[in-house]
Amino acid sequence: MAKERLDLLVIGGGITGAGIALDAAARGLRVGLVEKWDFAAGTSGRSTKLIHGGLRYLKQGEIHLVREVGRERAILYRNAPHVVVPERMLLPILRGGSLGRGMTAFGLWLYDRLADVQPAERRVMLSRAETLTAEPLLSPERLIGGGLYYEYRTDDARLTIEVVKTAAALGALCVNRAEAVALLYDAGRIRGAVVLDRESGEEHTVTARQVVNAAGPWVDELRRMDRSLDDRRLHLTKGVHVVVPRSRLPLRQSVYFDVEDGRMVFAIPRDAVTYIGTTDTDYDGPLDQPPVLLEDVRYLLRAANHMFSGVHLTPGDVCSGWAGLRPLIHEEGRSPSELSRKDEIFLSPTGLISIAGGKLTAYRKMAERAVDVVMRRLAETEGRPWRPSRTADIPLSGGERGKAETLAEMRALRVPAPADAGDARVMEDRIRRLYRRYGCNAPAIWADAMRQAERTEEVDEKLLEAEFRYGVEEEMVCNPCDFLVRRTGALHFEPDQAHERFRRVLSRATAWFGWDEARVAREVEAWEAQRQAAAGFTTLPSQGRGRP
Ligand SMILES: Cc1cc2nc3c(=O)[nH]c(=O)nc-3n(C[C@H](O)[C@H](O)[C@H](O)COP(=O)(O)OP(=O)(O)OC[C@H]3O[C@@H](n4cnc5c(N)ncnc54)[C@H](O)[C@@H]3O)c2cc1C
Repeated sequence: MAKERLDLLVIGGGITGAGIALDAAARGLRVGLVEKWDFAAGTSGRSTKLIHGGLRYLKQGEIHLVREVGRERAILYRNAPHVVVPERMLLPILRGGSLGRGMTAFGLWLYDRLADVQPAERRVMLSRAETLTAEPLLSPERLIGGGLYYEYRTDDARLTIEVVKTAAALGALCVNRAEAVALLYDAGRIRGAVVLDRESGEEHTVTARQVVNAAGPWVDELRRMDRSLDDRRLHLTKGVHVVVPRSRLPLRQSVYFDVEDGRMVFAIPRDAVTYIGTTDTDYDGPLDQPPVLLEDVRYLLRAANHMFSGVHLTPGDVCSGWAGLRPLIHEEGRSPSELSRKDEIFLSPTGLISIAGGKLTAYRKMAERAVDVVMRRLAETEGRPWRPSRTADIPLSGGERGKAETLAEMRALRVPAPADAGDARVMEDRIRRLYRRYGCNAPAIWADAMRQAERTEEVDEKLLEAEFRYGVEEEMVCNPCDFLVRRTGALHFEPDQAHERFRRVLSRATAWFGWDEARVAREVEAWEAQRQAAAGFTTLPSQGRGRP
């Protein structure tokens, strides 16, 4: 990156920056992206992990947004079917709840039309008895019925990395562990950044015709550095999720339910766990590792205990959790939940383009708007030809070819499996998991593992090795935390096995990178800090500790 003058430098490797890098590379621009920690280490790895159809926008009367996110959701599903999966959602209707039966029926009907929902996924209204059959754990007391509709489930960090990989395949230079520590100017116009390589400690000068600040919650830090922070600024709100073993909240499907204070919360089963979230509170603490506090945990558990009878969750049941910061745009007098989720572009007199707000769901459209600004400027200053966004028709990495979700489909691709494949159900489960993570990149990882696995008992071990190798070679994994927190989600979603995996991954990483003892000790410390941040809420965690 430092060797050439880029057309565009993107600061921030969350979904917004990744989307911008992809859109710009697809329009033929020379793009560089720098991320100070790891891709999706900020908000984009800490969301509710849903590609929304925008139901909540309907409640706020933002019809245009419902339409836009509905369209975006369909595009994402087409381009990345492995990481964007339809998820049945139950909306219980309660006596005295936020929406009555008539309003829920009408709201969901309108939402189906506005968001252009597929006929098979349109809402179904349920009687009280049908609702209790759909979800026997619901408290019957105030229940008067329910609505079934569809949201789409994603893995936010994996979605982000797939966008980064797609951008890189189109020529974008994307790098993690690279922090923009100063901005560079030429006659008052921004022309790049000083970038610190956090691995080596070296600094590099990266120059670019245009610079986009997509730093999420850190957007205003960069605007301050640019001396362009004005009255229009970010309003950060914190959202917490907690994870409990699925056996403690064995829901049959996801549920979106009312909380006493008028907010709504999701409970989403995923593999061996169920996660519950989110909170929405003003935040002005350190940005790098927002804490999960005991009061956040209590709020969510109280909400779940109220909605589901007989479960009686306590903080002792919580095996993990995460907190993320919403980089929303400040509006005077509005509470956290009332703030619009719309995105906004700030243009600085120096030329710095900052973008914030928005949702994971609509990242593609946000990116298109930001790159439109870049293209217009390049047309004005350099006479570059205008090219429209192409990303609606670009499959994301892993979403390009057909499915390989079963053993039979893997075999059809002539991917090997051990002669004695062991328990077929276990094997199918492994393959499905791999497919959900990597899509059509999964067969290559599977084949790599199977080449090494001589016996069925070795399959798990060799799969972990093959996944790690793929992570290092194709997804810029630099340490065990990148792999276990963001590339595979093990920290939160396989809490029982995560620590054991850490030991195995650490030994692979030590051999691979040739780490000395001091470095290994730092990695152990970083992992313990992650575990503490995820599950150490009972003693109020010290703020800002550890790296994301
Ligand atoms: C609790 C919660 C739940 C949510 N749930 C959903 C949901 O279910 N569906 C949905 O669509 N949306 C959801 N959202 C919204 C969505 O997650 C965010 O809108 C989105 O992830 C923001 O992405 P971003 O790229 O703008 O920010 P980030 O993901 O935070 O990315 C910014 C990146 O910039 C990097 N950075 C900062 N400063 C520098 C620097 N100087 N140099 C280099 N890099 C830098 C950071 O390390 C970070 O990785 C949720 C948000 C929260 C908080």
